[in-house]
Amino acid sequence: MHRRHQAVLPDWLALYYDEPLELTHGEGRHVWDAEGRRYLDFFGGILTTMTAHALPEVTKAVAEQAGRLIHSSTLYLDRPMIELAERIAALSGIPDARVFFTTSGTEANDTALLLATTYRRSSQLLAMRNSYHGRSFSTIGITGNKGWSPTGLSPLQTLYVHGGVRTRGPYAHLSDADFTAACVADLEDLLGHSRAPAALIAEPIQGVGGFTSPPDGLYAAFREVLQRHGVLWISDEVQTGWGRTGDHFWGWQAHAQSGPPDMLTFAKGIGNGMSVGGVVARADIMNCLDANSISTFGGSPVTMAAGLANLGYLLEHDLQGNARRVGGLLLERLRAIGERVPFVREVRGRGLMAAIEVDRPERAAAVLEAARAGGLLVGKGGGHSTAVLRIAPPMTVTVAEAEEGAALLETALHSV
Ligand code: PMP
Repeated sequence: MHRRHQAVLPDWLALYYDEPLELTHGEGRHVWDAEGRRYLDFFGGILTTMTAHALPEVTKAVAEQAGRLIHSSTLYLDRPMIELAERIAALSGIPDARVFFTTSGTEANDTALLLATTYRRSSQLLAMRNSYHGRSFSTIGITGNKGWSPTGLSPLQTLYVHGGVRTRGPYAHLSDADFTAACVADLEDLLGHSRAPAALIAEPIQGVGGFTSPPDGLYAAFREVLQRHGVLWISDEVQTGWGRTGDHFWGWQAHAQSGPPDMLTFAKGIGNGMSVGGVVARADIMNCLDANSISTFGGSPVTMAAGLANLGYLLEHDLQGNARRVGGLLLERLRAIGERVPFVREVRGRGLMAAIEVDRPERAAAVLEAARAGGLLVGKGGGHSTAVLRIAPPMTVTVAEAEEGAALLETALHSV
């Protein structure tokens, strides 16, 4: 399979592991490979199997909808799409919200960029250093992580702002309050030197960048400055949405003092593996386009049925509460483990987004391999050096599984 993959797929479609894995099935928080080995899955296909593998409620909803009608298009009334839009609009915190469904996070962010630049009549964007927002021509132009931005050509003029990474860069040595003040002063200065940007786009916790975040409240402080200049705020919630951070339903709520963002984008987990993405915006922003626009597959009945079943399960079972409780415990265990491993630089995170930053990328790769050998799947990430292990189990993870995963990671770290 590996040879066939290499022969027919792009070189830049990187695979994990020296001997890449083929996963054949999953159940709950476990997956099995083609040789029948079982793994505890603490990455969920990059935070996308958000709830559980083979969650019966989602499987049933998908099968039933597929048996009735797989596709109708946005030319006709789509009941599951309207129902999911109503639920997401109400949950978003954005007043008079409109929802547009896409098939990916990239397309969701691309839509947010189209809306912001049209609404503001500006092609200038503010984004965070070390950010990741997607793979399209527009979104790589706002991705401040050169490992994921294969060209410098862009339809946008992007200025990168300080603040997304607390423990690196020129302000890392400052206290939280001084760090925030320095980033705000930098933003003020930048705005004084730039044309009127359309928006600032930011991940509340940077995903691909290695689960890094600023002190709580930074984006609220930014918001005040942005509002004075008429600049919109887009929160990219592709990894941080739906309660994964435990303390909040949306990542932006760690910066809630000055209210919700003008737009938020989502994808990954809401479909529990089905391709659902979207953007939520205030009506005046969403409706600013004066030409038609559709996404042929965005909001298709099967994916919307999955989203509805998954969101219903998530809310009924208080998975945000589970993320807070089990995620808190997992982080505590990982911090204690990290203290005893000399090459661990930092253990950080929130809810079920935990990261272990090590001293260099080869070490992170070795721990990833060792964890796999022990029966645990985790992810990698990080800006300059990809030296971060990302740990993000499905949100139904139990205390016993969190303990088991932490023990497997401890063994992997020590073996390296
Ligand atoms: N935004 C963020 C924060 C992401 O993590 C990702 C995916 N890693 C995207 C956008 C792009 O989503 P997709 O891969 O579904 O296009």
